[in-house]
Amino acid sequence: MSDLGRHFRRQRADLVDELREKGIVEENVLTAIGAVPRERFVDSAMQARAYFDQALPIGNSQTISQPFTVAYQTAFLDPRPSERILEIGTGSGYQAAVLCAMGVRVFTVERHRALHERARQVLRSLGHRVYARYGDGTQGWQAQAPFDGIIVTAGAIGVPDPLLMQLAMPTRDRAGGRLVIPVGGGKGQVMKRIIRVGRQDFEAESGEAFRFVPLVAG
Ligand code: SAH
Repeated sequence: MSDLGRHFRRQRADLVDELREKGIVEENVLTAIGAVPRERFVDSAMQARAYFDQALPIGNSQTISQPFTVAYQTAFLDPRPSERILEIGTGSGYQAAVLCAMGVRVFTVERHRALHERARQVLRSLGHRVYARYGDGTQGWQAQAPFDGIIVTAGAIGVPDPLLMQLAMPTRDRAGGRLVIPVGGGKGQVMKRIIRVGRQDFEAESGEAFRFVPLVAG
């Protein structure tokens, strides 16, 4: 491994320790974050800051989420290996890579073509098999539904109906699909987890407060 590779690996291990200190206890999430080279998902000019616990610009006025936020959302989603998970807001592709590292089947939608193309390239170069689509994620991905989980990585004013309807129905031996979505306006959002308990029945709970770039319809 190159000196630079060793340097990033050390920084990645430090970031995992930092996230643990900040309250992330799920070892599968920490292991995934410890395995994904975040420096590959940011501009080369930004690589020195790749392992700071900060959001960073990725172009098109968008950001790669702060590692704590990625860890928190992933833990809240609680994905199991081989589950079908839909992400809305591919952005850099980092969150998708973290899910891949957990053995999940990842579907992801992004509304900026340039970001979609770049994320697709980076994910492929790292050997991740992700189903990535360019389009409006507020409509979900009907052709691939139902999903065991949906994770929205942009701040939503309300919960889009199509996302609720694309969650898997509960069965005798499986709970229904779950949606993790930050809900709130420009002043910040509360992380919600919504579980499908019946055809038109959902149960919601609230987590911590965050500040995301907006989920834009259309
Ligand atoms: N998960 C990303 C975070 C990206 S920031 C990462 O790991 O880097 C949120 C992203 O959501 C932005 O790229 C933004 O363009 C995208 N977005 C906003 N509204 C959207 C919509 N309706 N459909 C799909 N993507 C959307």
